[in-house]
Amino acid sequence: MSFDTLGLSAEILRAVSDQGYSEPTPVQREAIPVILDGKDILAGAQTGTGKTAGFTLPLLQRLSDSTPAKGRRPVRALVLTPTRELAAQVAESIETYGKHLPLSSTVIFGGVKINPQIQRLRAGVDILVATPGRLLDHVSQRTLDLSAVEILVLDEADRMLDMGFIRDIRKIIALMPRQRQNLLFSATYSNDMRKLADSLLKSPVSIEVARRNTPTELVSQVVHPVDRERKRELLSFMVGSQNWRQVLVFTRTKHGANRLSQQLEKDGISSAAIHGNKSQGARTRALADFKQGEVRVLVATDIAARGLDIDQLPHVVNYELPNVPEDYVHRIGRTGRAGNEGEAVSLVCVDEHKLLGDIERLLKRDLSKIIIPGYEPDPSIRAQPIQKGRSAAGNSRPRNGAGHPRGKRPGAGGSASRKARSGASASRGKPASRGNSKGAAGVNGNRAPGGKPRQRSAPSGNV
Ligand code: AMP
Repeated sequence: MSFDTLGLSAEILRAVSDQGYSEPTPVQREAIPVILDGKDILAGAQTGTGKTAGFTLPLLQRLSDSTPAKGRRPVRALVLTPTRELAAQVAESIETYGKHLPLSSTVIFGGVKINPQIQRLRAGVDILVATPGRLLDHVSQRTLDLSAVEILVLDEADRMLDMGFIRDIRKIIALMPRQRQNLLFSATYSNDMRKLADSLLKSPVSIEVARRNTPTELVSQVVHPVDRERKRELLSFMVGSQNWRQVLVFTRTKHGANRLSQQLEKDGISSAAIHGNKSQGARTRALADFKQGEVRVLVATDIAARGLDIDQLPHVVNYELPNVPEDYVHRIGRTGRAGNEGEAVSLVCVDEHKLLGDIERLLKRDLSKIIIPGYEPDPSIRAQPIQKGRSAAGNSRPRNGAGHPRGKRPGAGGSASRKARSGASASRGKPASRGNSKGAAGVNGNRAPGGKPRQRSAPSGNV
């Protein structure tokens, strides 16, 4: 099936083909005609399914079908997202797919100056992407009027609820006309989500799609047993000897992410850490540098990495296994996207055998274990207790509320199939040349739970 049959205009189709997409993904196939029909939808689709284009393309189409009278343009479509990074990514998609249309859009989120946002809003925008906290700041400063919104999108609504945004969302909904189209995207359905959906949506069409690339299909997974103290050395060796250019590495804690990033730099591998304590500028810069290939290794905590869309990421490394097994599935979902095969490598020391067992139980299979010559684990080393980053019981949930209670997480509970690498191919190689590191980043919305403004770089727990 091609995009041409979905009812989209030539300008939109041109933007889609500029991106090199030849076929709509399942969520796009299902959602686009329904949204074009003006119906509400309740879509169970995660990041990686193509959901952003799934709502952006028909939204652009509907808005361009009915250009408003001359004068200042009111906001006619509002996309709410839980985090700044997701807001920025959605806004980028709107720009990309709308580049041949005379529609304007902007994005507003916290952690950056409000005045440039006010100016952009004043100039008039058709489509606004926002995180809830900063949006309400604008409303209270009377710099934003939502009374002409025709289409509301709640993206990753489950995460918004997890982050305590429900009151903000309800306040925002009350500012819009009752007559409007509502599109709700959520990877999971808790009772709270159901309540929100019931109160928000009118006769919604339900759309349910699995991840486009589940670990089952496209991610090869391998465990390298190694001693705790030699993980860093092994990682540098693998990056250098196999000439990996773009690697996302997971640690359990912010401190661990910083330390590893600094050590990699010492090994001559350009690296940045991305976690909850960094300014918006630093986060954006680190992500941009990584995407552009200036930073080879991005070291991230689970929460920081959630929702990041980094195209065609070839390598994901679990430098430390997550405490919550579902996070493993989520982590490796960062690779093997959009039809590209990915590789997920886990460096596992004696302390983590129980965590590995938990992951294998969740996956319902054993992962293949390959010892890299020269990095054989020392059998005399005893297991030590693991420093808790985020506990499975959820009792060290970050203060910013960005954590997901167990079992409610996007990407949780998927299964992975056997496509493990059959042999180690490592030989000692020279470390790569030194690159530059440009700061670090983190992912948060701009409000604390309960709607109180949060400080930009407030400490947010351990992760
Ligand atoms: P999303 O689920 O919206 O985060 O999209 C995941 C990734 O899929 C993004 O990198 C998109 O650029 C890409 N993508 C979206 N639609 C298509 C398509 N029809 N064909 C190929 N890739 C796509």
